[in-house]
Amino acid sequence: MKIICIGRNYIAHAKELKNPVPKKPVFFMKPDTALLPKGKPFFYPAFTNDLHYETELVLKICKNGRHIEQEFAHKYYDEIGVGIDFTARDVQAECKQKGLPWEIAKAFDHSAPLGSFLPLTVFADSGNISFSLKINGELKQQGNSSEMIFSFDQIIAYVSQFITLKIGDYIFTGTPKGVGPVQAGDHFEAFVGESKLLEFEVK
Ligand code: MG
Repeated sequence: MKIICIGRNYIAHAKELKNPVPKKPVFFMKPDTALLPKGKPFFYPAFTNDLHYETELVLKICKNGRHIEQEFAHKYYDEIGVGIDFTARDVQAECKQKGLPWEIAKAFDHSAPLGSFLPLTVFADSGNISFSLKINGELKQQGNSSEMIFSFDQIIAYVSQFITLKIGDYIFTGTPKGVGPVQAGDHFEAFVGESKLLEFEVK
């Protein structure tokens, strides 16, 4: 199983980090060890002083495929969830400045907490799915798949030109604006629509 993450897929988020708005999807990967075991707390890593949350809709791949055409892409995912793409922003800034890969800032252990999934059939339109993050009960991030620069189908078509998608893979589809710092003691709750699909503590 692999985790593919799309970067800069919401214009307002690309702007808040002063990144250019991409012409093609930007993606990177996290290993399976990035998942946070269910019910376990997330421990603030010692190697960063500026850990950020990024709340993202996550697709679960239900069919193996490569070189998938956009018009058939919807057949390759059938469930949606919400995940956190934890990012060591200070470490990432150093990687970017030196032109180095981002893995140490993005792919570390437990950097991709993921909760339950909903069947996509629950939603009338996959291009209009809202999601949100509360920390300590306070609304921190809110987004909707309608605001994405690249749609789910465009992402699947693009990524599968390079990397074979396999059943059980996850695709994090990018974060809306409102990313911010994490503190030890934070209580995370993430929602798709009104459904709370992910909850954990930071220690
Ligand atoms: Mg992200």
